[in-house]
Amino acid sequence: MSQASPADPRVIVALDFPSAEQAIAFLPRLTAKSCRVKVGKELFVSAGPALVERIQALGFEVFLDLKFHDIPNTVAQACEAAARLGVWMVNVHASGGTRMMNAAAEALAKVTTRPRLIAVTVLTSLEQTDLDEVGLAGPTPADAAVRLAALAQAAGLDGVVCSAKEAGAMRARFDRSFALVTPGIRPADSAADDQARIATPGAAIAAGATYLVIGRPITKAADPAAALAAINAEIATAGGAR
Ligand code: C5P
Repeated sequence: MSQASPADPRVIVALDFPSAEQAIAFLPRLTAKSCRVKVGKELFVSAGPALVERIQALGFEVFLDLKFHDIPNTVAQACEAAARLGVWMVNVHASGGTRMMNAAAEALAKVTTRPRLIAVTVLTSLEQTDLDEVGLAGPTPADAAVRLAALAQAAGLDGVVCSAKEAGAMRARFDRSFALVTPGIRPADSAADDQARIATPGAAIAAGATYLVIGRPITKAADPAAALAAINAEIATAGGAR
């Protein structure tokens, strides 16, 4: 089991900027040895694959967070396109079902440099009433999340996105080869912003998280490099063998 190392940083910085220019202007504040970066729907829709290529040309590995959810063939082709773009990680919705996830995993098994493929289980914005409304069964959202994560693992996926609060229950069920990617992370001294259920980097790692998605505590910091360094130091202290 490896510790956090420069070759496999645990922090994925969420580049939640409205334009390519702002994202590219920010990147020199970070180094590719200390983090990976996440490109989500807003930035991808506005800046497209060309931005992902520019980010990768700067040496950063990219988690393309587009949460695909469609018929199996369409999702498989989208994942293949992401692989051609050279991204490090891509994701789909587990609620797209086993056949959809299988098709995505099989499509990626054919490519030379295979991105990691993870699943979103239950969006953390959904509460019990929302789940009942859409007919997603499970005594609680956390139970539904673990059930969907088991489907993702059986379909050959590499892990799931989950809240740090769910990481312990997930880790009790899945060994460390199954990645847990947790957003909602806040160092003890930073603002919660609009995140309701937060965990510190150390607590998330101790609960079994593999990678931490962190945005504003780094992107809005007066000194982003120092904020990231402090988070990486906290992660190293928390141990967190993978
Ligand atoms: O700035 P902050 O650290 O809150 O950013 C967290 C990132 O993780 C954002 O890109 C957000 O969309 C994403 N995310 C999240 N909660 C989830 C899933 C994704 O905050 N459940």
